[in-house]
Formats: sequence, C-alpha cells, structure tokens
Amino acid sequence: MSFDTLGLSPALLRALEEQGYTQPTPVQSEAIPVVLAGHDLMAGAQTGTGKTAAFALPVLERLYPDGKRMPLARRPRALILTPTRELAAQVQESVRTYSKHIGVKSATVFGGVGMGPQIDALRRGVDIVVATPGRLLDHMQRRTVDLAGIEILILDEADRMLDMGFLPAMKRVLGALPTARQTLLFSATFSTEIKGLAAQFMRSPQEIQI
Ligand code: AMP
Repeated sequence: MSFDTLGLSPALLRALEEQGYTQPTPVQSEAIPVVLAGHDLMAGAQTGTGKTAAFALPVLERLYPDGKRMPLARRPRALILTPTRELAAQVQESVRTYSKHIGVKSATVFGGVGMGPQIDALRRGVDIVVATPGRLLDHMQRRTVDLAGIEILILDEADRMLDMGFLPAMKRVLGALPTARQTLLFSATFSTEIKGLAAQFMRSPQEIQI
C-alpha cells in the first residue's frame, strides 16, 4: 500500500516523501479514506501508531482540496483538542510539516503561558487551532476566539482528556461548535464516558480499531 492511492493531493504527497514516509501505517490507511469521504470517525489507536498524520493529512485535504490555498479565513476552520500543551505543540508541528507546500496558518492555545500572544495570533487569522480544552474555554469566554466557522473537530487522545478532568470544558466547547461539522475522535481506549461523548456529539461515526 502506498500513499498515492489514498486520495491525497500532490502537495501533501511531496511533503510526506520529504519526510521519508514511504507507506501509510495501518491507522493511516484505514482512517484517511473515511475522513476524506466526510464521515465522523472513532479511531482506537495508541501514540506511536502514526495517528497524528492519520487525522492531519485528510483534514488538510478537506480544508484545501488539491492543495489549493484558500484566502485566509477570518476565523478558524478546524479545531484540534489535545490533553496537554506538549501534545498541542507536537500536533501543530506535524500540521506545519505536512502542509509546508500549502502554507497553512495555525495557532496553539494552551494554559500556563500568557494570553496575549495567543490573542494576537488568533486576531491575525488562522485556519487551524490546536488547543487544550481549559484555555480554549477561557478564550471563548473572553470572545478572543470565534468558533462559528469550525468545519472539522478532532479530539486527540480523548481518553487522556477525560482522565485529566476536561469533560466539563470539552462539553462547553463542543456545545458551542456548529452542528454541521465533521468530528474525529482518537483514543487509546473506549470507556463508557467516551462512548457517551460520541453518542452526544458525533453523527453515525465509523469505527476503526488498530
Ligand atoms: P504519532 O503516533 O502520530 O505520534 O506518530 C509517531 C511517529 O511516527 C512520528 O514521529 C511520525 O513522524 C512517524 N510517522 C507517522 N506516520 C509515518 C509513516 N507513514 N511512515 C514513517 N513514519 C511515520
């Protein structure tokens, strides 16, 4: 199996080649077509399986069909929620790497650092926001982020977010997003709580388990 047959644009394929990725990992070959088809997705995958590219690549393809850069949106189009600031930074770095031939503006939003630079970045305009739930809620309450244009939501390491007590913040964020959106949930485990979250906030998700 090669990346060529998965429906990704030459701009993305070129970035993958430059990264030395020769073939998709199992979670990538299963998730990418499902996401490109516009379905909601619940994926059971651990860290180290290549799950970041499994959501980042098809999300980039859906936001920028054929690698075409759109005029910068006034407000973000995709939101990636992660449990920790380290993971948020790592995910943003991956998004940057994969989108280097498209040129995508992204911002990270997490606690423990000043609000100012994050507010400035959001005000300048970004396509993709990578955030931890608590700090994102803070920005929502101050109206320094506008989530009304979100087309795709990704919950990365959903089980860890719940373990860290983010359920109330996640519910507030999810409740504020447009309902006509695509939702992708990645988690190492599927507890009753995760299934409840999916039942409440996802639409007929396809399930894959790696
Ligand atoms: P992740 O599970 O997303 O944290 O990814 C684990 C590591 O695998 C990261 O260092 C990625 O850069 C790398 N990786 C992801 N997909 C591939 C691939 N198809 N081929 C080679 N390396 C990959």
